[in-house]
Amino acid sequence: MKAPTQCALWKDPEMTRNQPLKAQFEEVKMLLRDDHLSRRLLRCRECGQLYFYEFYEEIDWDEGKDPQYQTYIPVPTSEAAEQLMRLSVFEIAAYDGPSLRSDFPKTAKKPRIYWAHRESAHHDETMPGDNDE
Ligand SMILES: [Zn+2]
Repeated sequence: MKAPTQCALWKDPEMTRNQPLKAQFEEVKMLLRDDHLSRRLLRCRECGQLYFYEFYEEIDWDEGKDPQYQTYIPVPTSEAAEQLMRLSVFEIAAYDGPSLRSDFPKTAKKPRIYWAHRESAHHDETMPGDNDE
């Protein structure tokens, strides 16, 4: 997937923390809603970029400080988002294309928000399963 370099989030991922999701995005489609996992197709209100968005909350049995993980994967079409629905939470976590992450483990005071694999934007034509190592 091409990097959404036109999107304000590309330069400032912290924007996702400083305002409600609703202010930043339009919800195109709710893909999955569970107690601790939800997935949505979002569209940036500013530039129209589509994002596959996942919110995942682990259960902390001991202290009730549930770690929270959010992932925004830019997608070209809603079909591409449907394809990501086939991936598990762990596969989404290991997704090796450009993706905006917000990691909030229970030991942290505030989430860490960053773009993972920014650099893989340069070779975006790689097909899944195209590993020849
Ligand atoms: Zn945008």
